[in-house]
Amino acid sequence: MRVSEICRYCGGVIRLVPAEKVYQAATERLKQQSQWIYQCQNCNARVGCHRDSKRPLGNVANEVLRLKRMETHQIFDAFWRSQGMSRTAAYRWLAKQMKLPAELAHIGGFEMEQCQRLISLCHHTGDKEAA
Ligand SMILES: [Zn+2]
Repeated sequence: MRVSEICRYCGGVIRLVPAEKVYQAATERLKQQSQWIYQCQNCNARVGCHRDSKRPLGNVANEVLRLKRMETHQIFDAFWRSQGMSRTAAYRWLAKQMKLPAELAHIGGFEMEQCQRLISLCHHTGDKEAA
């Protein structure tokens, strides 16, 4: 997947920048050292990259979508831990449920609808297990 060079929100220029430039003092805590981020130089829409690469996880996200991706991540992580899955198994489950190739099965690249679908899947599956 490639990121457009033009921001989908504002038409600004998107540049590949080191994560330190975005996260600054929080870089280490967020384990983003030597990671790369595609960032709109105008509105700050952004998306991270696959670990140790310059391959974007998806399309750039504005603040609303970034918060949604974070919320989805929290729900997904809590879900697979509660199911006793390993991280690897969890991402296999995600890819299968969302009918995505492993390469695209990353919440950091999800669109709003995909976030909502995964949240529903987690809730639904969690309920079934509990019943
Ligand atoms: Zn922009």
